[in-house]
Amino acid sequence: MVKILVTDPLHEDAIKILEEVGEVEVATGLTKEELLEKIKDADVLVVRSGTKVTRDVIEKAEKLKVIGRAGVGVDNIDVEAATEKGIIVVNAPDASSISVAELTMGLMLAAARNIPQATASLKRGEWDRKRFKGIELYGKTLGVIGLGRIGQQVVKRAKAFGMNIIGYDPYIPKEVAESMGVELVDDINELCKRADFITLHVPLTPKTRHIIGREQIALMKKNAIIVNCARGGLIDEKALYEALKEGKIRAAALDVFEEEPPKDNPLLTLDNVIGTPHQGASTEEAQKAAGTIVAEQIKKVLRG
Ligand code: NAD
Repeated sequence: MVKILVTDPLHEDAIKILEEVGEVEVATGLTKEELLEKIKDADVLVVRSGTKVTRDVIEKAEKLKVIGRAGVGVDNIDVEAATEKGIIVVNAPDASSISVAELTMGLMLAAARNIPQATASLKRGEWDRKRFKGIELYGKTLGVIGLGRIGQQVVKRAKAFGMNIIGYDPYIPKEVAESMGVELVDDINELCKRADFITLHVPLTPKTRHIIGREQIALMKKNAIIVNCARGGLIDEKALYEALKEGKIRAAALDVFEEEPPKDNPLLTLDNVIGTPHQGASTEEAQKAAGTIVAEQIKKVLRG
């Protein structure tokens, strides 16, 4: 019997598909030691972003054939180590694009209008209409870093808000950007200088780590709002903290952090930082799609 180990919460429809091909064990919240033990005789491992599938986990596996990531980013999986052992890694890159794009718009609006701060104040019994004065998205320049699946969905929605859009993505042709109504810039620093809102939609790689660093933050407008629904490591959080604290930029809206869950992250002490706990793909629709797409792929691999 094929043993399928699921170590992060997975949609019930995905479990049903997996049960057609093997015996499913759902074991969430495992410690590293427990995972190292359980992985030994698993044929399939299914994770979301919580489980860290590191080299030592992969090396402990004696029968593992497939790792399914019910979502997009595979940065929690050592794909190189898996490939060396002939283990196939499958994911669901399209499943959550719309959900992440919608959260990005939500955070952008929430930061522009101070919605979370105003809600908290209202619930404290205050009625402070001056403190939360915001800015409009209309007519502003949005800088989109990474024009892939999610970036493109954000572009569509931001256009409906009447934003002008500039983009930085060295891997897409100018014509593709132009057909979306995006002005492509060759230099991330130019984007940082010109944009009123900046949103990140690139994968985290050694090349993109701190793609928004001290130098880029220093170039931003005083009223700039930065939104990150991609990966925490893309921004130098220390530099971001200093700029926000000193009022050198207006606000940040963060769904992701360098360390998750954040431990004593000073960013979370600032009034001009709002955020969500890595909720980009946390919708009914995205989770169902991510789970079922990955389960179907696993089924295909197992059936050869
Ligand atoms: P994608 O692969 O479709 O697009 C990424 C884009 O980034 C590509 O167009 C690529 O050319 C571009 N890119 C790569 N390196 C770059 C660089 N150095 N500078 C500028 N552009 C660069 O990916 P996607 O589906 O749009 O997802 C983007 C990221 O969003 C994922 O890698 C993941 O980390 C993150 N994500 C977060 C959540 C969440 O819950 N918050 C959910 C899904 C995805």
